[in-house]
Amino acid sequence: MNTHIAHTGTLVIGGGQAGLAASRCLSDRGCDHLVLERGRIAERWHSERWDSLRLLTPNWMTRLPGHAYGGDDPDGFMSAREVAGFFAGYAASFRAPVLEHLNVQRVAHDGQRFSVTTDAGRFTSDQVVIATGWCDRPAVPAAAASLAPDVRQIVPRDYRRPDDLPLGGVLVVGASATGVQLAAELHQSGRPVTLAVGSHTRMPRRYRGMDTFWWLDQIGAFDRTIDDVDDVDAARREPSLQLAGRPDHTSLDLAALEHAGVRLVGRVETIEGRRVSVATDLAAVIDAADRRLRRTLRRIDDTIAHLGLGAEVLDAEPLPKVVVRDQPASLDLTADGIAAVVWATGHRRSYDWLDLPILRDGEIRQRRGVTALPGAYVLGQRFQHFRNSNFIDGVGRDAAFVADHICARADSLGARSSTRTRPR
Ligand SMILES: Cc1cc2nc3c(=O)[nH]c(=O)nc-3n(C[C@H](O)[C@H](O)[C@H](O)COP(=O)(O)OP(=O)(O)OC[C@H]3O[C@@H](n4cnc5c(N)ncnc54)[C@H](O)[C@@H]3O)c2cc1C
Repeated sequence: MNTHIAHTGTLVIGGGQAGLAASRCLSDRGCDHLVLERGRIAERWHSERWDSLRLLTPNWMTRLPGHAYGGDDPDGFMSAREVAGFFAGYAASFRAPVLEHLNVQRVAHDGQRFSVTTDAGRFTSDQVVIATGWCDRPAVPAAAASLAPDVRQIVPRDYRRPDDLPLGGVLVVGASATGVQLAAELHQSGRPVTLAVGSHTRMPRRYRGMDTFWWLDQIGAFDRTIDDVDDVDAARREPSLQLAGRPDHTSLDLAALEHAGVRLVGRVETIEGRRVSVATDLAAVIDAADRRLRRTLRRIDDTIAHLGLGAEVLDAEPLPKVVVRDQPASLDLTADGIAAVVWATGHRRSYDWLDLPILRDGEIRQRRGVTALPGAYVLGQRFQHFRNSNFIDGVGRDAAFVADHICARADSLGARSSTRTRPR
């Protein structure tokens, strides 16, 4: 379908938090734009999250340009449904020009303007902002293809609740936020759970009486920029925090899971049918995570000392030790009674619809969201500029930077317009 629907200054592709933050910043600056979203606003919070999921960032950290959490539980954690509602409210608060249920199939540039093909027709624009999400598709290791066909495999995007899995044991692969949360839920449902643990970032929910995110905010952890790190690619690949937003604010770490009865093993290496080989370095991996955590906690302690807060905060709580009972080299899924595997192994992106010279090794090359192709921008990348660029609380300052760039460009083209584009 090639009908030309509309020309606008900027097309924002994706109506999640990044696309909405861009829209708000462009609206504030009087820059003409449309947001194209293939589903509903914040679609992934409607259809790609499990039922019990809550934000792991406290509600007070739900802050976007011109809008913030205003409920009566700032220290609580929103459910996925509440998050979807929050974003719908955000879009309504400034009448964001979002066109829902339009799937972008191709983005090209003819040397002058962008041409964006959707399943309903074609749009053109002077600028595009790619805001289709860092957590776009599940990243499943190639070894998954060698798993016996009668073992159920599932990715978190498709998992809703324990009943989605056959009765029997479950192997959860990956011990970051998603892996530990699903391991805890499946264990509570009565299934024997084995958790395969690779490199991870341990983080207690609370430290010295305050939520850890509050401390991380205080010590400036989220203000670290990509210019402050030595190895950019490694920083962007760092495992996400091992955390959960539980109403009782308890920690969910390997110590708690092991204590509850979850079996911990090393990371999955290869699979042949029903035999899964796992690394035998679990104790060392756990030690490394604990050392990194202690460094972070020391920075918090230093800040407390520096600010003279010692009398106002609690003493440091001891860190529960993770007990490593055995370090098997392999699992026999039949003998271990494992009927399902959950791949909580992270996300990847696929830009096969992006016909622009801005990709290297499949990722968008950018600096502060600005790409090498004039007029092409991106938002919501992991560590795009700040450590929290892909968090709800972090995308706003990147969106403001990108919007400033876009509006300056539109001015130089003589193309800024405060009149909103509406498609024909
Ligand atoms: C399980 C999970 C829990 C998380 N918890 C937290 C948390 O507690 N706190 C926090 O700050 N962050 C959290 N995050 C990180 C981050 O906030 C989310 O990943 C968030 O969804 C990112 O927003 P986004 O707008 O960048 O991308 P997305 O929310 O992925 O939005 C992208 C949008 O683009 C649309 N789209 C994609 N392709 C196309 C196309 N071709 N055409 C049109 N539209 C398209 C999608 O439908 C989607 O709506 C979590 C992430 C995950 C996966």
